[in-house]
Amino acid sequence: MNNLELITKLEKAGTLTKDEFVQLISTCSQSDMEYARRLAVEIARKHFGNKIYIRGLIEFTNICKQDCFYCGLRCSNKSAQRYRLSPEEILACCKAGYPLGFRTFVLQGGEDPFFDDEKMCDIVRLIKKTFPDCAVTLSIGERSKDAYQAFRNAGADRFLLRHETANEEHFSKLHPKNQTLASRKECLYNLKKVGFQTGCGFMVGSPYQTTETIAEDLMFIREFEPQMVGIGPFIPHKDTPFADMPQGSLDLTLFLLAVVRIMLKNVLLPSTTALGTICPDGREQGVLSGANVVMPNLSPIDVREKYMLYNNKISTGSEAAEGLRDLKERMNSIGYDIAVTRGDFSETN
Ligand code: SAH
Ligand code: SF4
Repeated sequence: MNNLELITKLEKAGTLTKDEFVQLISTCSQSDMEYARRLAVEIARKHFGNKIYIRGLIEFTNICKQDCFYCGLRCSNKSAQRYRLSPEEILACCKAGYPLGFRTFVLQGGEDPFFDDEKMCDIVRLIKKTFPDCAVTLSIGERSKDAYQAFRNAGADRFLLRHETANEEHFSKLHPKNQTLASRKECLYNLKKVGFQTGCGFMVGSPYQTTETIAEDLMFIREFEPQMVGIGPFIPHKDTPFADMPQGSLDLTLFLLAVVRIMLKNVLLPSTTALGTICPDGREQGVLSGANVVMPNLSPIDVREKYMLYNNKISTGSEAAEGLRDLKERMNSIGYDIAVTRGDFSETN
C-alpha cells in the first residue's frame, strides 16, 4: 500500500499494523503530510466545529523527586530554583482565570512529596467548591491506585500522565532504573479504572527515539484509548544529561498530531506549549493538524521562569492566560474561536 492508502486505512479501520506505521512515518512525503493534516482538520471540525477548548495551566510546584533525564525539574538539577504555591495562591490563579473564560484548571507539577494525597484532595475540593462549574485536571505523576481514587472522590475530573515511550528499552534510556514503563502503564490503567478522563502521550524526537518506537507509541495509544493525548517536540534543557541532544522536528510533530486525530476521532488533543516554543506559530499549526485544545499559562508570573522543563519555554504573549485576547486573535485568523466551556471528552461527540 502507498502512504495515501495507509492514511485512508487508518481513517477507516482506526489502526494500522506496526510495520505499516513504520512505513508511514519513515517514508512520509510533504504531500502525504499535507493530506494527513487536511484530513485531521476535517475530522476535528466534524467533532468540535471551529471551537478550541482552553485550559488554564497552574504550575504549582517545580519540586520533583524523580530524575527523568530529559527534564529540567529533575531532582539532580541543582541549579533549578525551587518553589511551591500555597493553596491560597493556587486558588488565586483560578480566580484570575475564571473571568477570562477558563472552565478547566490544570494543576501540573513535579512529583513533590510535600503535596501528599490528603493535601492534593484538599486543594481539589477547594477549587471544586469555589468553582462548581469547572473541571479540574491533575498532572502530578505516578501515585497509588488508592490515591488516584481519592483524587477522583475529591472531585478531580481528568489526569494527564504521558507514557513517554511505549518501548521498554527506550524508556530505560530516558529514565533512571527505579522508573519503569510497567509502573507508568499500571498508573495509566488505574487512572482509567477509577474513572478519570485520562491522557497519555510522548515527546517527538526524544533521545534514542526511532521510527519503531514511535510506531509502538501509536499502537499503545490505540490499545489504551485515552480521552486525551499530549504530543510535543522534545526540547533539550541545558542542565540535564540531554543538554546537547537535538530538538524534535516540527514537521514530524505536526504529522503525528494528524495521525492521532485520524486514529482517535474525538480525542482531546492539545497543541502544546513545546510546539509553540519551537515555532512562533506552532500553536496555530498544531490546530491546523487536528489539535483542538490549548493550555495557556495561569501560573503567577514570578514563578513561570522557574518551571523550566526545557530551554526557553515560553510563558508570555498568547501563551499566557492574560494574553488570551492575542490567542483569540490568532485562532480567529485561522478560522477558529475559543470556547468558554469545560470541554469534556464525549463518546458521542
Ligand atoms: N511531573 C509530571 C508532570 C510534569 S512534566 C509528569 O512527569 O507527568 C510534564 C511533561 O513534560 C512530561 O510528561 C514530559 O513529556 C514533558 N517534558 C519534560 N521535559 C521535556 C523536554 N525537555 N522537552 C519537551 N517536553 C518535556
Ligand atoms: Fe519530574 Fe515530571 Fe520532570 Fe520527570 S518529567 S523529572 S516526573 S517533573
